[in-house]
Amino acid sequence: MSQTKYVFVTGGVTSSLGKGIIAASLAKLLQAQEYSVAIQKFDPYLNVDPGTLNPYEHGECYVTEDGAETDLDLGHYERFLNVPTSQANNVTTGRVYQSVIDKERQGVFLGKTVQVIPHITDEIKHRMQLLDKNGDYDIIITEIGGTVGDIESLPYIESVRQLIYELGDENALVIHLTLIPYLSAAGELKTKPTQHSVKTLMESGIKANVLVCRTEHELTEDLRNKLALFCNVKREAVIQSIDVDTIYEVPLKMQEEGLDKVVLDRLCLPQRNTHLLDPWKAFVQTLKNPAHQIRIGLVGKYVELQDSYKSILEALIHAGVQNQARVEVVSIHSEHLEEALEQAVFDRLDGVIVAPGFGQRGTEGKIKAIEYVRKNNIPFFGICLGMQMAVIEYARNVKNLSNANSTEMDEQTPNPVIDLMEDQKELSNMGGTMRLGAWACQLEKDSKSNHIYNTQSISERHRHRYEFNNQYKEQLFDDDFKIAGVNPDTQLVEVVENTKHPWFIGVQFHPEYKSTVSNPHPLFVSFIKAALAHAQLKK
Ligand code: GLN
Repeated sequence: MSQTKYVFVTGGVTSSLGKGIIAASLAKLLQAQEYSVAIQKFDPYLNVDPGTLNPYEHGECYVTEDGAETDLDLGHYERFLNVPTSQANNVTTGRVYQSVIDKERQGVFLGKTVQVIPHITDEIKHRMQLLDKNGDYDIIITEIGGTVGDIESLPYIESVRQLIYELGDENALVIHLTLIPYLSAAGELKTKPTQHSVKTLMESGIKANVLVCRTEHELTEDLRNKLALFCNVKREAVIQSIDVDTIYEVPLKMQEEGLDKVVLDRLCLPQRNTHLLDPWKAFVQTLKNPAHQIRIGLVGKYVELQDSYKSILEALIHAGVQNQARVEVVSIHSEHLEEALEQAVFDRLDGVIVAPGFGQRGTEGKIKAIEYVRKNNIPFFGICLGMQMAVIEYARNVKNLSNANSTEMDEQTPNPVIDLMEDQKELSNMGGTMRLGAWACQLEKDSKSNHIYNTQSISERHRHRYEFNNQYKEQLFDDDFKIAGVNPDTQLVEVVENTKHPWFIGVQFHPEYKSTVSNPHPLFVSFIKAALAHAQLKK
């Protein structure tokens, strides 16, 4: 078995430079050269996982097949590579400390004083090599969250230093992502912050081998030479990452700059000439030159922060490309709808998604939106909370079940059509206790969903505590509003459809997590197709 090679990605100067996209882009390029690649992310915060974080903090919480609640960068990894990630791909300081402390309580350390070095760093190193257990990967890319120089990143940086020492120089390399700011008053790009962050890394015993420089303007030859000389990297290892219209262009830009070549050379791995990136190029080509344009309303309560609905937005892009269409997303704040639903805004939409969410805020607005699109035949896609709200809307407005609601929003509702699952009632811990990860679903033979998926047995990822209350099955569903999919073991309702409507589907799961560039999600593809048809009708 050949030695697995390690690439570490650190960030300098400022946060939000897009380390996740650079890591995913490099992985894509290496994958296109027929290397098997994994990516993992280490986050320096104390939450055990991001599941308990409000989306305003770090954006969406991404859920893996095995039910881990993870950082949204894992979504980029899956969307770019089309390979599922797992619990092991995202580790936080909280998790590292939790396992070290658990071991201490079990007496594993045999009376030793437990310290950051070596115990925390050993645990980090162990976890950094966990994906390598079966030797499945040629290259493992590890993204270190945060910015070099932060106090909380120090144990990670020290672990990387030790690991490089142990693995040997030819088996590991460090990519440092940095910012080259442009001072408009001086009309100049500045290299000093980068020099300083490379130096900070050096003080911890780590030499950056490759610099990826985020910039708004082209780096000149002189500037590249200067960066190479002062930061002690080879000239060809100064990689420009200029702002682009879409993240899907980044791998192509990185290839032009030779990032894959520099990395493979440094790791003593051969270049392979393949055409495996051609479908990706075709995807970007269509994305940039679509034949059609449609407008989809996204109704949610976190719409101020785009990252809150990351996977949905990306799934819409994938499905748009599949339909040769640019999807313009119109954010609609569900709380604002509670005051007034502007018909003119909705009538200009070609489809509406009601987003997932937690808590009461904005839910009445979501119900109002659903009533409008149901009555006006506007394609509707309800995801998780969006599906629950569609059930409530039908219960109230068609079945006259007074004040029907979810017990999450109103514990006293006379008609709890959405209710807490039995096994959730006793729980006191919030972290990691929802219905999470992949669950099977059996679709009804004559349902639209079966037609869309082209199979009756599907598996989709979940993240919720509440469910359709099966006691209302008879009262609620009829010839127009139907159950289209259930979990085969528990009979929990997973998919509902309004058969009188051109496209009205609500799903208890999160299809957006499984949409990738090479495998756009069938429900999103079909929804966009219906939206295109709706747009045609309006003409
Ligand atoms: N709050 C709802 C529940 O817990 C829906 C969750 C979601 O939309 N992800 O069931």
